[in-house]
Amino acid sequence: MTKLSDFTHITKFLFGGRARFMLRSPKTGKEIRYFMYGNPGNDLIFHVDVASDSVSGMTQYLGTIKIEDRTVKDFRHNARGKVHGEHSSVKAIQYLISTLQAWPLDKPYTALDVHHLGHCGACDGDLPDGHLSGLHTDCEKEHFLDL
Ligand SMILES: [Zn+2]
Repeated sequence: MTKLSDFTHITKFLFGGRARFMLRSPKTGKEIRYFMYGNPGNDLIFHVDVASDSVSGMTQYLGTIKIEDRTVKDFRHNARGKVHGEHSSVKAIQYLISTLQAWPLDKPYTALDVHHLGHCGACDGDLPDGHLSGLHTDCEKEHFLDL
């Protein structure tokens, strides 16, 4: 598990197509794990699951994030799902997306701590601990976002 701080790395990692990550609030220390997946070459709709139970590995579907014209659109909560829109896992994703939308490209991202979990955000293959971009070099080269 390694914290990502570069804005471009975080954005490319999250929208790589198979991103497993943990968000930690710098204020409260609360940690939540997610899986964000989609087909970047196709419709640019990304789905977000939250790990609701770290013991059993159970996940719950939270909703979608779309990319249009190279811009990240707001998170859309899945209102028919089991996780309420006011739940901290939904609030944290909304906060992540809204702060990323407004973040200056050249500043390290500090609104939340974003950690990869030892897997490439694009191909899900292993990454060594301490890997700072969250994507293999080749996977980063082929990324659809040209940041
Ligand atoms: Zn990869």
